[in-house]
Amino acid sequence: MTQTSRRRRFLYSAASFFFRLAVVVILLGGGGWWLLAHPNKPVPSYWNPLRDLKISAPVTPVTKWQLNRALANEAQCRAALAEAGVQFPAMQDLIVDQNCGISGRGLLSQLVTARMEPVETSCTTTLRLAMWENHVVQPAAQDLLGTEITRLRHIGSYNCRPMRTAQGENSGWSSHARADSIDVIGLDTADGRTLTLLADWQRNEPEAAFLRQIWRGACDWFRVVLGPDFNRLHADHFHLQGPGWGYCR
Ligand SMILES: [Zn+2]
Repeated sequence: MTQTSRRRRFLYSAASFFFRLAVVVILLGGGGWWLLAHPNKPVPSYWNPLRDLKISAPVTPVTKWQLNRALANEAQCRAALAEAGVQFPAMQDLIVDQNCGISGRGLLSQLVTARMEPVETSCTTTLRLAMWENHVVQPAAQDLLGTEITRLRHIGSYNCRPMRTAQGENSGWSSHARADSIDVIGLDTADGRTLTLLADWQRNEPEAAFLRQIWRGACDWFRVVLGPDFNRLHADHFHLQGPGWGYCR
């Protein structure tokens, strides 16, 4: 075999390799796009990062991605809540100063299943709370208490105040000053029980186990979660905070 024909053969096999590679890439890429974007949805929406969040859909690795998009877009946030039956009628944004106010404001009175004492809060806090209720609180109530949660008891969300610490007030502003948090003190069950953190956190099974499970599960949907084990300021409530550095105590 001459030098040139050996070279030609090499070039031919290289070209044919790249041609086949290109065909594979186009098929995979095009096929992937078709699977995701096709109107007949061969991929269920909860596995499809291009679709909007649906609160009641099963949780998949794609859910966090869909949730983050809804948290960043008020219209999408409100649409997800409305689709799930969450009662959160819109209110005008509250503008106080650079530390205090509520954007994406509404009056929350009903999650997917549980009712609440009406509370002014933000769409993002409501959306995280609805994900927690639907994917953590209600399943844990079924598993551990054999019932459903009909009411979520709270002590408010918006509060224009500096952060409180066990050492006293410090210079930062509380996430409550922007309604980015909500404080939950207890829950009512469909079979007539009222659980409170104060009375039931240290109590016997299964109520204490239920409270601990929903506290741990809150860390999947809120970035900062503080409970009775954190410090005495939280002996009677869960502090559930959307933005933050990932702290769960
Ligand atoms: Zn709080």
